[in-house]
Amino acid sequence: MSIRKKVTILGSGAAGLTAAIYAARANLEPLVIQGLQTGGQLTITTDVENFPGFPKGIQGPELMEQMIAQAERFGTQYIYDNAESIDLSKRPFTIKTSSEEIITDVLIICTGASAKLLGLEAESKLMGHGVSACATCDGFFFKEKKVFVVGGGDTALEEAMFLTRFATSVTLIHRREAFRASAIMVERAKRNTKVNYLLNSVLEDITDVSKGEVTGVKVRNIKTNEVQELPADGVFIAIGHQPNTDLFKGHLPLDENGYIITKNGSVQTNVVGVFAAGDVMDSVYRQAVTAAGTGCQAALEAQWLLEKEEAEGELGKPEEANAGAASSVREPAAKAGA
Ligand SMILES: Cc1cc2nc3c(=O)[nH]c(=O)nc-3n(C[C@H](O)[C@H](O)[C@H](O)COP(=O)(O)OP(=O)(O)OC[C@H]3O[C@@H](n4cnc5c(N)ncnc54)[C@H](O)[C@@H]3O)c2cc1C
Repeated sequence: MSIRKKVTILGSGAAGLTAAIYAARANLEPLVIQGLQTGGQLTITTDVENFPGFPKGIQGPELMEQMIAQAERFGTQYIYDNAESIDLSKRPFTIKTSSEEIITDVLIICTGASAKLLGLEAESKLMGHGVSACATCDGFFFKEKKVFVVGGGDTALEEAMFLTRFATSVTLIHRREAFRASAIMVERAKRNTKVNYLLNSVLEDITDVSKGEVTGVKVRNIKTNEVQELPADGVFIAIGHQPNTDLFKGHLPLDENGYIITKNGSVQTNVVGVFAAGDVMDSVYRQAVTAAGTGCQAALEAQWLLEKEEAEGELGKPEEANAGAASSVREPAAKAGA
């Protein structure tokens, strides 16, 4: 089936749903292709305490349900599927899911980024229950606690140092002897007496899934094969993020890590009518509120582009009808006053 839309949004996280709220309230009747993770990354966490408007905090899934309902209230339509292919070579653009073809004047890409995980069963089962992939988001919950951070790059060291503001001890688990992080970060971490190290080591398991909370970690030294079991209150996986941009390879410029490159920090891509918002174009802040902020920007940019094009289209008609007559109508004001 083919669906014709003015505005189509890929992704139903904070960026996509905020874009939908704004586009819907501008009467653009947006379509959101939700992807397979309805509500995005916040649905895999529990308490969200830094999204404005919720002084007592809110559960991630509940926040996203509210955003979905808010966008729906103003006329947003949803498709529960992934976009599987896109054609951005001509406008309107074409997007295909497994069962639909969508023809759209504007495309807003909000497909987010996924935190890379180790693949342990306990890691996903305890996500939001002591396991996290975001120290900025969850560090506050670990006051006076013992936490472990997995990773060896700049992000891991930054997260470890940030966590020392709350935790009594922070232990970095890194599979190598040397860190990939910049020398200055390593130096800073070394000066921080709360940061401890388990080098040449890998996280084998996290306990205790049966209790629904983190009580300890099993860490294996890859040189000696010795496994230690250590008490823990929290585990932060800091091995990087993977932007969900496979679909856009060859269609849009991506940076060396796969994030969509936008113009001068805006939400505009190098294709007129294609905007990108949220974690898919932001490897720095990666917060729900910044994703929502850029989602808003993208919807407003889309609205202004369509308005400008519609105004220009209307101006074009009398000119065509009066072919050969002097072209006097270029500015909307001229037409309004005519
Ligand atoms: C464990 C955890 C805890 C966090 N806690 C907080 C917190 O407390 N506060 C905070 O501000 N931030 C927090 N964050 C970060 C926050 O979740 C993200 O910054 C935010 O979700 C980014 O929103 P987004 O809309 O850009 O992308 P995402 O939330 O990543 O959403 C991406 C969307 O794109 C869809 N999608 C992917 N591929 C396709 C496709 N091919 N076609 C269609 N749709 C597709 C997915 O289904 C999903 O709906 C946390 C993150 C994690 C992982």
